[in-house]
Amino acid sequence: MAGFSPELLDEIRSRLDIVELVGQFIGLKRVGSHWKGLCPFHTERTPSFTVNPARGIFHCFGCGVGGDAFGFLMRHDRLDFPEAVRALAERTGVILPTKREPDADSKFETLRQIMALAADFYTQSLWAPAGQKGREYLERRGVDLEVARRFGLGYAPEGWNTLLSVMGKQSIAEEQLVQAGLVVARQAGSGFYDRFRGRLLFPIRDLQGRVIAFGGRALGPEEPKYLNSPETPLYVKGQTLYALDVARPAVRARNRAVIVEGYLDCLMAHQHGFDETVAALGTAFTEAQLGLLRRHTDEVIALFDADAAGEKASTRLEDMMTGTMDLPNLGWSVTRTGGFERPGYFSIKVAVLPAGHDPDSLLRAEGAPALAARIEAARPLLSVVLDRMLQEEDLATARGRATAHARVALLLGKVANAEEATMLSREAARRLGVDATQLWIEAQQLQGARARGPRFEPPAGRAASESAANRWPPPNLAERDLLTLLVHVDEARAELLPLLEMEDVAHPGLRALLAALRQASGPPEDLMSVLEDEAERSLLAALLMEERQWADAHSQIFDLRKRYDIRRRKQRVRQVSQGIAEAQGAGAPALPALEVELRRLQQEAEAVRELALTRPAPEADERPGR
Ligand SMILES: [Zn+2]
Repeated sequence: MAGFSPELLDEIRSRLDIVELVGQFIGLKRVGSHWKGLCPFHTERTPSFTVNPARGIFHCFGCGVGGDAFGFLMRHDRLDFPEAVRALAERTGVILPTKREPDADSKFETLRQIMALAADFYTQSLWAPAGQKGREYLERRGVDLEVARRFGLGYAPEGWNTLLSVMGKQSIAEEQLVQAGLVVARQAGSGFYDRFRGRLLFPIRDLQGRVIAFGGRALGPEEPKYLNSPETPLYVKGQTLYALDVARPAVRARNRAVIVEGYLDCLMAHQHGFDETVAALGTAFTEAQLGLLRRHTDEVIALFDADAAGEKASTRLEDMMTGTMDLPNLGWSVTRTGGFERPGYFSIKVAVLPAGHDPDSLLRAEGAPALAARIEAARPLLSVVLDRMLQEEDLATARGRATAHARVALLLGKVANAEEATMLSREAARRLGVDATQLWIEAQQLQGARARGPRFEPPAGRAASESAANRWPPPNLAERDLLTLLVHVDEARAELLPLLEMEDVAHPGLRALLAALRQASGPPEDLMSVLEDEAERSLLAALLMEERQWADAHSQIFDLRKRYDIRRRKQRVRQVSQGIAEAQGAGAPALPALEVELRRLQQEAEAVRELALTRPAPEADERPGR
């Protein structure tokens, strides 16, 4: 489909988990390597809507609709292709080319260089005599010097223009330093001054390890205790996780990330061996931050202080789970709390620290085992949310119970993971003194209403209700088998596509797939964004969903190749003999050219006879050998 490069679509696809996308709208349950649920596009009681995460496609065995993530969103939200691409690009953080200004790259590059220079200067200052106050502070807090070095900590010397003068010597303009968030323009009169003075600095880096901002800790009683870089073109609040660049290998290796609130908490956690720790830089986690982690791990454990700040953060997490579900671009939903069933499903757990402790103080007071125990005792966020909901209602009154009941049903309706939903409904039902099945049914009804409710009117001219499967008569089995073989087996495409002709396939849908396959170079599922017709995409999805053993594919391909080879030679024989007949008909004498043609005819005929002799199946049988 026009307008977007295959590389771009590939990038979006590679960052996207279709189970998670679809799971945002309908409940999915794992069945073998697939996920199944009730089709959002037709009414059904038993799930025939199937998602194949490995190929990134979906297919409904009931109504025949199918496609990839783009196709799903197009149909579900009634979007056209560019709209779906934009939505998924936004969701996955892929920047579309049109959004990028022509000179933006060089502007970013300049800012990065400035930040790198500043980081160097601050780091040197920490280890120079002038940085003594900073080093003393680290010692007081029990931070190892090795850890301080690993995290590139720095010290902003006291004085109003230390950085300014250093940068001035490098001929860096004050305006650029303002843009980088390092200096501030004086409000009265003219001139500039350093933003960070007499503070310990924590460089905030992007995933590539490039410094994009600083967090500054006051060393004495001065306010604010923490002073951070303002938002700059490089640094957008809520889009970054502190220390993710350092923690990433451990996050991947342990398939777990621990989130804390502050820089020092994070440093101390690393110092005590919790290398998978990152900091949220504030009391609220954002969807973007969780999205960052989502790419590297299946499980996030949020460490909360037992105090008010922790409460606030956990409320925010809860909002994220329950509040934004219906916006197509916001991926955070309870579907991600689905336990450990497979990579790609995200589990958020909450670990609450003992009263009066933050991770730093707990580690210093009781050491690593105490924190490890808290992490081990972390509870699924859903269960914590349920607790909170029930606590907020007065369950002693009928009215309180009714409200709690409704809220729990609403929450349950959003839980895509069936096992987790079942567990939760049991727990909730027990505590509310109601029937778990009833609660479950209500949740399903709420969920169904959500999944069916149209958000947009279908644009004129696009028949959204048209059933993709009913456009064509069902294909004959031989043709369907042939195309199924082609989409599943690389060798079949390599060997057979050059021999196949469009006439070999009569079914219009399969013929369109054949044409597309002949043009394609990547895996067949990539054709989803090439095929413009939803019926064609649905057909492709149906073929891709077929679970067959291709153990004898090699001999099938051999047989088919032979058949197409024979056919080609027969055609050749017909052509040559026709040529001879025409020459004779025109009264032409037996020219040497005719002799040559005749010899070729004999050779072709011989070849056909030989091939036919080795052929196991009768030619009348058009089905590819099994
Ligand atoms: Zn369906």
